[in-house]
Amino acid sequence: MQVIRAIQELRESIRTLRAAKAGATIGFVPTMGYLHQGHASLLEAARAQCDLVVLSIFVNPLQFGPNEDFDKYPRDEERDLAVAKDAGADIVFFPQVQEMYPKPTKTKVTVEGVTERLCGASRPGHFDGVATVVTKLFNIVQPDLAYFGMKDAQQVAVIEQMVHDLNMPVTIVPRPTLREADGLALSSRNVYLNEEERKQALVLSQSLRMAEELLGGSSASSVTPSQVVNAVRSHIETAPLAVIDYAELLAYPSLEPVESLKQVDRVILALAVKFGKTRLIDNTIIRIS
Ligand code: AMP
Repeated sequence: MQVIRAIQELRESIRTLRAAKAGATIGFVPTMGYLHQGHASLLEAARAQCDLVVLSIFVNPLQFGPNEDFDKYPRDEERDLAVAKDAGADIVFFPQVQEMYPKPTKTKVTVEGVTERLCGASRPGHFDGVATVVTKLFNIVQPDLAYFGMKDAQQVAVIEQMVHDLNMPVTIVPRPTLREADGLALSSRNVYLNEEERKQALVLSQSLRMAEELLGGSSASSVTPSQVVNAVRSHIETAPLAVIDYAELLAYPSLEPVESLKQVDRVILALAVKFGKTRLIDNTIIRIS
C-alpha cells in the first residue's frame, strides 16, 4: 500500500498503474479518516469490484461551519493506515490542507434542490464544501467508481445530482449503513459521546425501526407523514439528553416534502440529534407499498 501526500505524485502513480494494465478500473473511497468498519466496508466493496483501490483521508475545512468541530475532528493516522491496509486499499491519499487549498478557492460547486433541507438547512455552506472537495478529488484521482455510505444519504443525493448535471465520468456506488450490534450507526464522531450519551443515542436507530414498522405494517395505508414524524419525535424525546436538530420524512431521492404517502414510492426518515456537543445523524429509506 502506498501512502501519498502530494497531488502530483498521486497523479503519476495512478498513471503508471493504469499504463501497466490496459482497462484497469479505479475504485475511490473519499473519507475524513478516523476509519471504522463502515469505511472499511466501502473499501471492501471497491476491492471486490475494481483493479485499483484509492482511499483519500482529508478533513475538509470547506465543509465545516465556523462553530463546528473542524479543529477537534478526531484524527489517528497510524490506526487509519492499518485499517486501510486490512481492507485492501492500494493507495492512501493523505493531503494536508495546504496541498488541497494552496490559495483560497474562488470556485465552488453548488448543487441546488436536494441541499435545501436536512443538513443543507442546518449546516449552511456544508454541501458546497462537500461538492467542491469531491469534484477536486474526482479530478485528481479520476476514478471509474466512487463509493459512498447511505449513512449520509443526503450527501449521496447531492453527489449523484452533481455527477449527472456535470457529466462527470464516474459511477456512484451507494453502500448500506454499518451499525454497532445495538443499532448505533458507526460514525467517527461516536468517540465524542460519554457513557450516558452513548446509551441514550440508541433512540435514533430505535425510532428508525419504529417508522419502518408504522410505514410497513397493516396500518401503513392510514398513517400520515406527520403521524410518523410525531411518533419518532416523541420517542427521541424520551432520552433526556437528546436535542432534536431535525426529524423529517421526505420523498427519496428528491428530498422534497411529502403531502400524502400515496404520491411517493420511497421516503427517507432522516434524523439529526445532538447529545451534549455531539451531533449525530441517521436515516432509513422506506419503500411505500
Ligand atoms: P466520513 O469520513 O464521515 O466523511 O465518511 C466517509 C464515507 O464513509 C462516506 O461516504 C460516509 O457515508 C461513509 N460512512 C460513514 N459512516 C458509515 C457507516 N456507518 N456505514 C457505511 N458507510 C459509512
